[in-house]
Amino acid sequence: YTKYPHGLIISQSFTERSLSKRIEECSLRVLRPYEAVGMKESEDGDGLDVSFNTGEVINAKYVIGADGARSVIRGLSGIGFSDPQSQIDSALVNQQVILADVSFTKDISPILSPISTSDSDPKPLSFYTSFSFSPEGFFLTAPLGHPQVHSEIYGASEPVYRIGFNVPLHRGENPSHPGLEILQEFTNRQALVTMSSDPSQNPDPISIKKVYWSTRFRTHSAVADTFLKSVHGPESKEQGKNGGIVMLVGDAAHIHSPAGGQGMNLAIRNAIDLGSVLARLVTTPSSDDDSGFGILEEFMKERHGRAMKQIEMTKRFMWFMRALMNPFSITYWVIYFLGMIPLMKRTLAWQLSGLGNK
Ligand SMILES: Cc1cc2nc3c(=O)[nH]c(=O)nc-3n(C[C@H](O)[C@H](O)[C@H](O)COP(=O)(O)OP(=O)(O)OC[C@H]3O[C@@H](n4cnc5c(N)ncnc54)[C@H](O)[C@@H]3O)c2cc1C
Repeated sequence: YTKYPHGLIISQSFTERSLSKRIEECSLRVLRPYEAVGMKESEDGDGLDVSFNTGEVINAKYVIGADGARSVIRGLSGIGFSDPQSQIDSALVNQQVILADVSFTKDISPILSPISTSDSDPKPLSFYTSFSFSPEGFFLTAPLGHPQVHSEIYGASEPVYRIGFNVPLHRGENPSHPGLEILQEFTNRQALVTMSSDPSQNPDPISIKKVYWSTRFRTHSAVADTFLKSVHGPESKEQGKNGGIVMLVGDAAHIHSPAGGQGMNLAIRNAIDLGSVLARLVTTPSSDDDSGFGILEEFMKERHGRAMKQIEMTKRFMWFMRALMNPFSITYWVIYFLGMIPLMKRTLAWQLSGLGNK
């Protein structure tokens, strides 16, 4: 399928910067900072008036809510947002996860690299990521692409690593921005023993030196009841008014666990596809309001189906990860052996790349 048969991790801020550059190349402009605070049918009934915190108002026939998980546009449109119950028990996947960008007191790249980094392997040591499982949970360590990323994001002259791990339920609630002490505690408990700062565990102890950024969040899922709604005033139909059409994309439409790194992928694919459908609609002179709504409705139903599949997939992925934490269970060994089958590996790569659910 690809001549690059490996995973690469880049920071979301890099992706966002590339998209901003592309917007500039297209001579478009994103107006910042503007906060949408209200939306109602316009006085003349043609379109919706979206008002901003500056007091300014924009009139539009189509309003796209791309304003994230706490979408104001979704709320103002009266569209519900809840976890679609699936066959997988949500208590199993509703976990606390901590992510942090940190540096270490020693170079950890030799620990992350595979045993044999020979001359025939052209990849630099700092290329490798480690994802390990223990009975307590999983632990991810990934380099952030030294040296540009470290200096551009954090002004750091040392390598910065992204670490990520789950917090087992019995460990209780953690602060929303965990500090060095907590991160070290979990690293000692859940990461590779060779990354431990405890000399009784690791003869060559390594400690976290500096915390550049950290966050703690809960993995949960939610999907909007609909991604498309015709919004108008209570009596507008009788008065021959049309109102406007609200569409939701990205996190405003659906959120799920970050397992598998799917959220931004799906958001971008929503936007690309919606862009071409809308462009076709506004450039086709023959399309009337009803047929236009029909085309969008069909498209958004399809996107809703994709989002449901994605939520299901990330829940399943979390379930697999939990199963892999217990090497004494049958499930662990079933997953272990299934993971050796090339077809299974390909299917997983296809799903994780997002190509399997465009
Ligand atoms: C910890 C974590 C790790 C993640 N890791 C990955 C990953 O590895 N891969 C991946 O693909 N996805 C990942 N995601 C998910 C990804 O970040 C989101 O799915 C993605 O950012 C959604 O994009 P969005 O544009 O829909 O929403 P957002 O990125 O939330 O953007 C919404 C924008 O709308 C603006 N806004 C909000 N309210 C208003 C308002 N009232 N008026 C005007 N503007 C407003 C906000 O300022 C923001 O700029 C992760 C998420 C989290 C929390």
